[in-house]
This record gives sequence, structure tokens and C-alpha cells, in this order.
Amino acid sequence: MIKPPLPANEAQRLAALQRYRILDTPREQEFEDLVTIARAICGTSMGAVTLIDGDRQWFKSLQGLEGEQTPRDVAFCAHAILQPTRLTVVEDALLDERFSGNPSVTADPSIRFYAGAPLLSSDGYALGTLCVFDSRPGQLARPQAEALQALSRQVSRLLEMRGLRRCIDHHQSEHDWYEARLAEYYVQLEQQNLELSEQTRTDPLTGLPNRRALALALTEAIERGTGVPPAVAIVDIDHFKQVNDIHGHNEGDRVLVELAGVLRAQFGGRGMAARYGGEEFVILMPRTSLAQAELQCQYLRQAVAHLPLGLPLTVSVGLAAQHPGESAQETLRRADAALYQAKTQGRDRVVVAG
Ligand code: GH3
Ligand code: MG
Ligand code: MG
Repeated sequence: MIKPPLPANEAQRLAALQRYRILDTPREQEFEDLVTIARAICGTSMGAVTLIDGDRQWFKSLQGLEGEQTPRDVAFCAHAILQPTRLTVVEDALLDERFSGNPSVTADPSIRFYAGAPLLSSDGYALGTLCVFDSRPGQLARPQAEALQALSRQVSRLLEMRGLRRCIDHHQSEHDWYEARLAEYYVQLEQQNLELSEQTRTDPLTGLPNRRALALALTEAIERGTGVPPAVAIVDIDHFKQVNDIHGHNEGDRVLVELAGVLRAQFGGRGMAARYGGEEFVILMPRTSLAQAELQCQYLRQAVAHLPLGLPLTVSVGLAAQHPGESAQETLRRADAALYQAKTQGRDRVVVAG
């Protein structure tokens, strides 16, 4: 027996084999099918797709006997890959000095006939073989030899396609990964937008809806427009500048927050109380008659006057009910005019716009 020498390009050949990542993968039907066809064409009881690794021959497919791998030293195919472009045919292994003492010739499975067609990588390295073998000596007719070589090219293509499929799967999973990140990012963005729009509708000092939110709610209440129209009141603290001047700006802020609490408690549930700016607040009372709204405003005025703030505080209120077809701005303007009257009439009062 002669041990198979290593090909001159062994390092590059092994690197090429590694690139296919086929070693130690499960059996696959496509490879089995080609071995079945090869055996049928060549009339042998055994056949295999082998790959020659550093020190072993590994079977991607093996038919007619059991096994996963053998040492490279005793592999027929390790000889066959030394002639990458040619078919290696051994008609009787007992008469071939390379194989006569080979344990798979002298013992089970007692190989006598062997034909192996090298499997070439896309860059021309012989990775292993498609081979057929039998326990009886034999020969291959030319058409059988050509068919075996054609089939070996099919096996090579199969190897190539497996690699491409792996590559595509990899890209797909990378693509999926980016898509998932993008979706997460989108959710975060939505959340941020929500928070941002919340912020743009809320007054930071009092936590009440701001002027913008009030304008939107009022327009919406007007557009809904069934039955009783909304009433709108502008509430302005009397002589608030003096609160700041006498007690300081922080105390002024505390008063604003306290008043906001009263407004929220009285109007937050049905309608809206908003900070309109400075020491001015607007109350939206949907589907509220002017008489009812005036009563509500009087309650508010009294509640403010009795607030236990440690300093005197009153408010003036201008009230208007939306006229049919009137815009939100116009209703607010009339309420503001009523407020002006309340101020000029002496403050701490509610004036209803005509
Ligand atoms: P009037 O009865 O005519 O409404 O008098 P007023 O002093 O309430 O009105 P004026 O418009 O002269 O002054 C409003 C004051 O409100 C001036 C400003 O310093 C104060 N102010 C506005 N916004 C704030 C705030 O956020 N915090 C505090 N502490 N003061 C504010
Ligand atoms: Mg004011
Ligand atoms: Mg004021």
C-alpha cells in the first residue's frame, strides 16, 4: 500500500474546502440522489461523496456501507484528488500497489473496483470525489466514465449552490436585523413625538392645558356643534403684579399653581380649564347655557376669594357663549371684551358678553 502524498497546493486546497463549510454537516437528499444515480449507471454496490480534510476523508454521502469518515492515509479518494481533472479508475485493487495492502481491500468491505471523479471548487481545487466502488473487480465503459464525470460536476455545482444559499440566508438575516432595529426606532420616535406633542399642549408651571390645547379643544367643540353651543370664560387675576411685587415671584408662582388646582377641580371633568398666558386662564364649558356658565363662574370667583393662601386674591371673569357660525377667535374676543369691562367696573366680578 502506498500512502497518498499531499498535493502541491494542499494549503490553498484546504482553505478552499473550509470556505464551503460543508464538513460535518448532516446528510442531504440532493447528494444522496446523485450518488444513487452514479451507482446505477456504473453498476456498483457502493458509492460516496467524499471530501478530503487535513487528515481524514469525510463522507457527505455514503451508500452500501456504514461510516462517517476514515483516515486520509487509507482513502482511495486521497489518491484520486492528485489528478484533479481526471477520473481515477482502479479495476482491481489487489493488483494496484497503491491499494493492495489497504485495510478496506484486505478486510471489510473488501473493495476491488473503484472509480472516483474529483469534485472541483469554483477556483479549481480538488476537494474530494464522487466515487463508486464494489467488492468485485470491474471496468467502466466510456459512456459510464463520462456520466460519472458529468455527475461529479453536478455535485460540485450543488456545493457551490449551498454556499450561495448560505450567503443569501446570511444577508436575509442581516436585513431582518436592520428591519427589526428600524421598527424599534420607529416605535421610540412615535413615543417621543407623543411626549413632545403632550409637552406642546401643557403649561409646565401649572400642568394645565396651554393656549394651543385650548384653541384646539374650542374649535373642536364648535365644529361638533350639536345642541347647546359652548361657553367660554377668560379668568384674570386682579392686581397680580402686586402679588409679585410684595411677596416675590416664587410666591406669585405658588398662587398660580393653587388657582390652577381650583380650576382643574371645578372644570377639568367636563370641559377644560387652560392657562392662556401670564395670569390669565380660559375655561371651556361645552354644551352649557349662558345662565349655567355664569353660575359656574360665580362659584369660581367666590372659591378663589376664599382660598386660604395667606394673601388676598380675587379674579375677574369675562364670559361669552358661542354664537351660531361664530369662530373660536371671535367668541374669545367677546369674552376678553367682557373681562375688560369687569376690570373697569371694579374687578372681582363676572361680566357676561352681550
Ligand atoms: P389687572 O388686575 O389689571 O389684571 O392687574 P395685574 O397686575 O394682574 O395685570 P398686569 O398685566 O399689569 O400684570 C400681570 C402680572 O403677572 C405681570 C407679570 O409679572 C405677572 N406674571 C405673568 N406670568 C407670571 C408667572 O408665570 N409667574 C409669576 N410669578 N408672575 C407672572
Ligand atoms: Mg392680565
Ligand atoms: Mg391681572
